[in-house]
Amino acid sequence: MQILTNSNGPVRATESRWQQQMKLAIRSPERLARELDLPLDAICPRQANGCGKGSFPLFVPLPYLARIERGNPQDPLLLQVLPTHQENEMAPGFSEDPIDESSFLAATGLLHKYLGRALMIVSGTCAIHCRYCFRRHFPYSESSGLATGWQEAVDHLRADNSIREVILSGGDPLTVVDAQLEALIDRLESINHLRRLRVHTRLPVVIPQRITQQLVNRLTCSTLRTVFVIHCNHANEVDSEVAAAVNRLTGNSIPVLNQSVLLRGVNDSLAALTGLSERLIQIGVIPYYLHQLDPVAGAAHFQVPVERGLELVEQMRATLSGYLVPRYVQEIPGLQSKTKLA
Ligand SMILES: *Cc1c(COP(=O)(O)O)cnc(C)c1O
Ligand code: SF4
Repeated sequence: MQILTNSNGPVRATESRWQQQMKLAIRSPERLARELDLPLDAICPRQANGCGKGSFPLFVPLPYLARIERGNPQDPLLLQVLPTHQENEMAPGFSEDPIDESSFLAATGLLHKYLGRALMIVSGTCAIHCRYCFRRHFPYSESSGLATGWQEAVDHLRADNSIREVILSGGDPLTVVDAQLEALIDRLESINHLRRLRVHTRLPVVIPQRITQQLVNRLTCSTLRTVFVIHCNHANEVDSEVAAAVNRLTGNSIPVLNQSVLLRGVNDSLAALTGLSERLIQIGVIPYYLHQLDPVAGAAHFQVPVERGLELVEQMRATLSGYLVPRYVQEIPGLQSKTKLA
């Protein structure tokens, strides 16, 4: 058997390509700097913050790296994955659980916050580490139901017949292998009152090979209607591989929507936001949400004021077809849905 070694154990030829890509991902600032032709100083000034070697380390898979412009320290994709010293700065109003998620844990691995739908934390693992992530401090090891086969979560779903839709989320639910995912879908299908399965995932964008034919086949023959919500913040994140992955879904009648986060330096301009919507629709993806950043500790440097966001969305509306303007929303703890800002 062919074995390539790297920092996360051997990569086996028998593994699927996406699993190999998970192992081959970049985990050190030194390697990231080398690959991008940047001085280490630009990636890791003063070796700040252990440069993301702490509880939320740097993690960039190679298919995503390939879309970052070489030699550009301000690249909008690089900024999303680069740990900086600003992460250590305390900002008023920014906390570890900014949207009070822990109080909505209905069962291990299940957040039931809104009527009719519940969100399953299928896995605590992600295929990329986005520095602005609102779940970056979430206690996954205690909260994902993976270890117990999601038993408690499935029991809760079965017992509450007001729930029509299950959202598979995380972390990223598609970091779980197909066989396990299929076993979970089998169990969800056995719950009579469920109608829809929604998959919240960044994998079609960061490792498009994850959308395997086996997975698509399983979803297509499901009794549940499947909807994908991918996560893409900038047009440069979409290349032909991403388009092909999306096509494997939409070509099998699985609708694909996108959610993005408004991020300073990444997409807080009219050109970036219209460019994103136009690129998405070219590959058959409908813009769904543009999220106001949740005030999570370590991400204050990404914040765009709501007034600026409103201005940008108004400009988008004046420029784009209505269906290309995402709903600009904010998560306000305690309310019955996300709050529409524009
Ligand atoms: C965002 C979210 C949902 C889904 O909300 P929609 O507005 O239906 O997209 C469901 N549950 C939780 C906990 C959420 O955070
Ligand atoms: S993929 Fe999603 S959950 Fe994972 S780090 Fe990025 S934003 Fe957070």
